[in-house]
Amino acid sequence: MKGIKGILIDLDGVLYVGDHPVEGAQATIESLMQKDYTLRFVSNTTQKCKKSIANRLSAMGFSIPEEFIFTPPIAAVAHMKKTGKQHCYLLTTGDVDRDFEQVCAQDTCAKKDYVIVGDAGETITYERLNAAFRYLMEGAELIALEKDRYWMAHDGLSLSAGPFVQALEFASGKTATIMGKPSRAFFDLALRDMGLQSEQVAMIGDDIITDIGGAQNAGMRSILVRTGKFREDTLKNTMIKPTHIIDSIANLKNFLCPALIIH
Ligand SMILES: [Mg+2]
Repeated sequence: MKGIKGILIDLDGVLYVGDHPVEGAQATIESLMQKDYTLRFVSNTTQKCKKSIANRLSAMGFSIPEEFIFTPPIAAVAHMKKTGKQHCYLLTTGDVDRDFEQVCAQDTCAKKDYVIVGDAGETITYERLNAAFRYLMEGAELIALEKDRYWMAHDGLSLSAGPFVQALEFASGKTATIMGKPSRAFFDLALRDMGLQSEQVAMIGDDIITDIGGAQNAGMRSILVRTGKFREDTLKNTMIKPTHIIDSIANLKNFLCPALIIH
């Protein structure tokens, strides 16, 4: 893959599966860093701030600075900085609000530029949804950190952010800008954060649609790994064709510029 200067690396299923690092993944990341590749570690999580993600990776043996982590909340912050409009109302939970501290920690402005919705779990109430609705009706734009319908929690299927995003879209007549993979906005903001063009960047992931399809739609090359959620059937049943398919991230060295081959 000639001309590659940056790599977007999916986390879950690429660097680790469950709580176990993929064999050889740590050494591969270290080599890429030594060879001066620009790296961003991308995940669709909307409940953890980048510091928590870096700490979790560290516990698994990865030494990854938090500024290299790029999630939907970080993309939303980048979008707010780009537009220069930084008053926001957050409908999120977990410690993800820490990612927004730099743009809206001291925000006491009564009018909001953005309503930002992530997976807010049990903190969703009529009062909070209605506050978000009112800000939208007063001119705020709607940003969805994700728009999944539901997910499997330990006690059963559970509503994700999507149903609440759709409720706010329905009530306000506005359409949300979606920040997670595979949205074009997410990949464009990641490129901007790296200071690279799409043809200089490859995405490595285990999800044929969100990782590979999303990256290709943004003009990047793509590498599918056979770890994590990879299934042969899913690959066969889609029109999306990755630039390369490798057994695991540990095999990445074969696909990078020969002059920069990692050892
Ligand atoms: Mg993944």
